[in-house]
This record gives sequence, structure tokens and C-alpha cells, in this order.
Amino acid sequence: MAETIRTTCAYCGVGCGVLAAPQPDGSVAIAGDPDHPANFGRLCSKGSALGETLALDDRLLHPEIGGRRVSWDDALGTVADRFRETIDRYGPESVAFYVSGQILTEDYYVANKLMKGFIGAANIDTNSRLCMASSVAGHKRAFGSDTVPGTYEDLELADLVVLAGSNLAWCHPVLYQRLAAAREKRPSMKVVLIDPRRTATAGIADLHLAIAPDGDTALFSGLLRHLFEADATDGDYINTHTSGFDEALAAAACFDGARVAAETGLAREDMKTFYRLFAATEKVVTVYSQGVNQSVRGTDKVNAIINCHLATGRLGQPGMGPFSVTGQPNAMGGREVGGLANMLAAHMALEDPGHRALVQRFWNAPRMADKPGLKAVEMFNAVADGRIKAIWIMATNPVDSLPDADAVAQALRDCPFVVVSDVVAKTDTIRHADVKLPSTGWGEKDGTVTNSERRISRQRAFLPAPDEARADWWQLAEVARRMGFGEAFAYGTAADIFREHAALSAFENDGKRDFDIGAYQDVPDADYRDLRPFQWPQGRGAQPAQKRFFTNGGFFTADGRARFVALRPSGAAMADEAYPLTLNTGRVRDHWHTMTRTGKSPRLSAHMAEPFAEIHPEDAARLSIDDADLVRVESRHGAAVVRALVTARQRPGSVFVPMHWTAEFAALARVCALVAPVTDPLSGQPASKNVPIRLERF
Ligand code: SF4
Repeated sequence: MAETIRTTCAYCGVGCGVLAAPQPDGSVAIAGDPDHPANFGRLCSKGSALGETLALDDRLLHPEIGGRRVSWDDALGTVADRFRETIDRYGPESVAFYVSGQILTEDYYVANKLMKGFIGAANIDTNSRLCMASSVAGHKRAFGSDTVPGTYEDLELADLVVLAGSNLAWCHPVLYQRLAAAREKRPSMKVVLIDPRRTATAGIADLHLAIAPDGDTALFSGLLRHLFEADATDGDYINTHTSGFDEALAAAACFDGARVAAETGLAREDMKTFYRLFAATEKVVTVYSQGVNQSVRGTDKVNAIINCHLATGRLGQPGMGPFSVTGQPNAMGGREVGGLANMLAAHMALEDPGHRALVQRFWNAPRMADKPGLKAVEMFNAVADGRIKAIWIMATNPVDSLPDADAVAQALRDCPFVVVSDVVAKTDTIRHADVKLPSTGWGEKDGTVTNSERRISRQRAFLPAPDEARADWWQLAEVARRMGFGEAFAYGTAADIFREHAALSAFENDGKRDFDIGAYQDVPDADYRDLRPFQWPQGRGAQPAQKRFFTNGGFFTADGRARFVALRPSGAAMADEAYPLTLNTGRVRDHWHTMTRTGKSPRLSAHMAEPFAEIHPEDAARLSIDDADLVRVESRHGAAVVRALVTARQRPGSVFVPMHWTAEFAALARVCALVAPVTDPLSGQPASKNVPIRLERF
């Protein structure tokens, strides 16, 4: 029997370790890795079913141009020629890469290097923009760097865990299991859930605050005011380690009980209970996810949360801190190599001339991008209006996942040159590709990922690459070579790329930048093969690894102090007379993104067999909708038809529809077609949880 391989799960940002054991009958036995510090052997339903998703029947296995099978040489030559011609004729800003939190750090590194250092534009963005860009922007505003201060262990050590906009039980199930186990051992631990819906996570909550969409800034600004009035702030910490407290407190003055109640829709007594609990508990972790991030004011919400932790000095210590949990398996790895249009490699800033010069020196790059590129929604707007004339999409399905998804489809139809690298032969995006490039998938590819607690782990191949499928980094490097940049992209293995990435993180880094894994810049191939999970930072000579950031301040701002952010009220609700309800999109327990992998498992598909809309009984009665009726959900941008699920779990006025179903699975249920392409002005993250809609029986 073949050996058991240690790898990591393909799905969420918990980043669980997986043991994969190929069997003689061709199947693969899957188990949790008991030695992986993210999950200690646990797996959720999705991770456990990974072995059921490996069949090749739906795979893209050969390069194609215009629907015809071609050689790799023809396909790569065509991509290089068309990108080169477009750049020569229209400039570097006329091309773009749209990549994914599903690709590995090594893939991300090469894509980012090619676009930002050699093509000379920053038009590379990622579907992680839809997931955690507001957390990145909030971290940078507060800490001067995109740093998650804490670790998963902090959830177990806390006396109060606040879950804001996070259905942890379904979206980060193993972290939820760890929290539930800790609470069982220590029943005095309290959990507060802040979510418009009574989700499965409410099962663990002592208090559920069914907040109105986008009420979080008001709730946490009111908390900041309460902490001050209750004498629960930490004056020493504020004076020693922060700036801007007085301004933030002055801005919070307008968030009295009446205003917070009006903006959040919460009962005053419930708010007070939460505020008193937070004020009285030293060890508090606030976990936040898409319910906070996916908003026109997502960055403000993140900073409203961080403000409360700074005011109490509760971060960087065991059991304390704000904690962003990322949706995707490698959203963090992408951030580390600059996979966002407004970031440079190794957490450096594109707008900083010193950082640009440093990266240019390291790469010996001929043409550095000198300004931020287009963020995801802007990028596809630029495809639609002709500014982008060639785009390479990698491991993602924007025709089903971006806001205003029908407009994205039209933009790709009209785009002169579209390349798609994917594992799947048929998606709603790949049908628009001029060139299709077959990628290796989970179990076939090799590299690293970073989970939500800054832990870098290996994804390892345990199956051969099928037919002509190749790694994404290889495809990028081969195109770079054909564009004349061969010397800088002469990688033989993923280990070569990892070493370069580690060396860049340490290059001229005198401790002023957070991301440093310089200890690995010379890692031998065999050690890379056997790399055990580790948390960054791991600079040269760093022993033992620093577990938490900001234990004694030391923020990455110019003056070393964390910054409070003064926040304004959020203003008018999104819903209006014509579209009086609000749509909240999200995940179900057993599916992942647009179902290209989880849709292959009958076991996973059995949990929620079809798309649905959760509707509060009052709204359903008013609209004469019965449970299980088909309903038409309509926004200003599109419409979907799904099954009504009438439930008091839902908040009145708010409707939840899952994001997973695509035209491949349910022709009329592409919910992202309804989402307005409005974004947070700082982070560029779309507001996928507060979309004005109307509803009627179909
Ligand atoms: Fe995979 Fe996330 Fe489940 Fe862990 S919790 S097994 S990483 S989907």
C-alpha cells in the first residue's frame, strides 16, 4: 500500500492537517492529522469527504485554444504573444490577472512577480478581495501592517468569545469544534453571537444579538463609549501604545443607547448585557468574518472592533485580541506575497517608494508597477468598458461569484482575449475562455498555504498529475519565459519559489516589517518536502517562534503606536421602497464556493439538496409565501428563483440565500447576479450581505 501523505485541507481558512492514503482500488482514505496544530486530528464534513471529490470525469485535462486541443507549447506561446502584443499596443495597464485564494503561495508569488515587476502594472487581484480585504485595510489602519495578532489557542483561553458576522459552526467548523470543546471543559466561558440570523453557531451562544445588517459600527462604537463611561479602559496601555484615542472617543459620543438601538435594531437590554460582559471580562477574543468584511463599511466595522480591544489593552496576550478568520485556504498566503492589487510582496506597500525600490532590487525587475492596480470589481468594470483587453483568470469562477455576475459574463464575452487556468472543464467562466489551461488540483499539486492564525503548512501531492495538467506556477513561469523574462522565472520546483519568497521577506528587513520567514530562505529540498507547520514570523535566528504579535506594543506604524480610528455613523439603510428587503448571501455547511469540488460528493450534496431563501414568517405571511414555495428574488441587477424556507431563525426584513449554486447545478439560482457592485471605498470589498431586494411567489 502507498504511504500516507500529510497535507492540508482544500477548503476553509482553518487550514486543517489531513492524512491522505491512496488505496489499491484507486480511492483515497482521508483522516485528520493528529499532529497538525490547527485541528489535532479533527475534520469537518467537507474535509472528511475530500476523497469523494477526486474523480477525473469533469476535469480539464488538455490545453485548448478556441475549443480545440493544442499542445502546451502552442497554448503558452499564444498567451505570451497576445499579452505581449496587448502590452506593446495599449500599455501594461491593459492586461490583468484575476487569481484565487485556492492557489498555493508559490503560484501566487510567481503571478504577482510577473505582473508587478515584469509586466509593470499592478492589475492582479484575487477572489480573496470578496472575503477579507476589509480586514486587511482595517489591520493596516490600526497596526500599520496586515497582521493577525493572535492564535487559535486564544479562543480556547478566552473567558469571552464574541463572534461577529461569523457562522463559525458552518464556515470554520473545526475552529468551532475547538471552541465548543474548550467551553465544555470550562463552562464559565461565555460566547456572544452577533449575526442577523440565528445560525447553527447560536447553539453555543449565551447571547445572540440579531443585529440589523451593517449595524456593527454602531454597536462597537457604542461599546467604546460604554467602556470609557464604565471606567473599563486601560489608560496606561492607551498612553503608551496608541494614538488617536481622544478623537475616536469623541466620534463615538454620538452613539448613545438610542442611536445604537436605532442602527442595530437590538433591544437596549441586550446591548447593555453585551457591553457589561465585555467591560467586565479581561480575556476577550472578538472573531469576525464575512458578516463584518462584506460591507460598504467593512473596514470601519473592523476598526470599530479593534478600537475596543486597543482601548482595553486586550491584544497580544493569551486569550485576548481581535481575530479575523479568513474564508479560503490560502487567502493569507496570497496576502503574504502581495496577491492583492494594492499590496506588494512580503506585506510591503505598493504606494511606498522605498518598498517598491526594495522589491525591484531584489527581483532585478525591469518595470515595476508604480501605483495600485484595479481591485476585483473595478477590474471587471475595466474589462467591460474595454480598458482591460486581455485577462488571465486562475482557479476561480467570477461569472458566478462576483457581484453583478451577469455583467461579468457579458464583460468576458466582449473581452478580446481571455485565458482561464482551471481544474474543471465546464464552469460558467471557462466557457468564455479563448485559451483553456489545465491545472493540477488538490492532491496533485505541491506547495504551501497559510491559515488564519499565520500558520504555514504544506499541501503535498499524493496523486500523479492527470494527463497534461500542470501547476499554475509552471504555467505562469513558462509564459514569463516566452515573454522574454526567462532568467527571473527559472524555477524547477515549488521549493525554488518558496526559498525566493522567504528570502524576499527577510531582504533588508530590520524588524520594521511584520512578515519575515527568512529562516527558510535556504531550506534544502528535503526539508521543504518534510516542512512541518509553523507560524510566522520566523526570521533568521528566531528561536523560539514568536507566538503573538504586539505583546508589548511594537506596532508597524511610523511611531510604533497603534492607531484608533474615529468612526462616523453609517447613515441610511440600503433597502428602499421599491426593494424593501435586504439580501444576505453566505455559505451552507457542506458546500464550498461554486461547488466545483463539493458538488461531486453525494454525501455533501445531501445536506442541502437545493438552493433556498430563508424568510422570516412575518415577511412570508405578508407576501403570501408558504414554506417550500418557489420564490423569485429580485434586485436591481438580477433575479433568482429558489425554494422558500420560512423560519424564525431569520430576522424580519432580511432574506438569506446561499451563494453556491451556479448555472451548472440550478440554472435560475445564481445569487451573485443579484448583488450590487458596490464596494467599501477603502478595501474594495463588495457589500454582499446587504443588497436591496424584493420577493414574490414564483
Ligand atoms: Fe477543511 Fe475547514 Fe473543515 Fe478544516 S474546518 S476540514 S480546513 S473545511
